[in-house]
Amino acid sequence: QWVELGAFVHSIVERFEMIVKDKNIYFHRHIVKQPTYAKLDADKLTQVLDNIISNAIKYSPSGGNVTVTLLHQGNKARISIADEGMGIPPESQERIFERFYRVDKARARNVGGTGLGLAIAREYVQAHDGEIWVHSEYNEGTTIYVTLPYSTFKGGKV
Ligand code: ATP
Ligand code: MG
Repeated sequence: QWVELGAFVHSIVERFEMIVKDKNIYFHRHIVKQPTYAKLDADKLTQVLDNIISNAIKYSPSGGNVTVTLLHQGNKARISIADEGMGIPPESQERIFERFYRVDKARARNVGGTGLGLAIAREYVQAHDGEIWVHSEYNEGTTIYVTLPYSTFKGGKV
């Protein structure tokens, strides 16, 4: 189905703002003004973004900022989720997209999860001619980028 990504991202962030009310995480949004239509399964994209945002929350300290951005970059829409959490060491950055991979079992034990979220996300994004990657500075924070084909109008060529 056709999904307008701006409204879609706003609604997901709003839902998380309610969930984390007492966890002291601050959300910020930068959403491009022009319409951004993508042809995809909204439930699946919800699953992808829910996992990335849940990770940002799980691996952030109290008081952390999470910034969600949607912009147009060439012929792709780019969504990014940036946190100020513990970060990911360089040698693990490519591995987080593998099934069941979790950085550092000791710290992972304290926060629930199976290590499947990002593997599912990569599979889904790639199946839609998109890309997903990570940029992270250890102990500074992590940004996950997702690109997807888009059109500025519903029914357009993506
Ligand atoms: P699941 O998503 O299945 O509940 P999970 O969150 O552990 O479990 P993924 O979402 O696939 O699994 O993430 C894999 C691993 O990557 C995590 O266990 C964590 O070690 C690391 N990771 C992911 N996102 C972040 C982040 N924003 N900051 C720090 N580490 C992260
Ligand atoms: Mg996860």
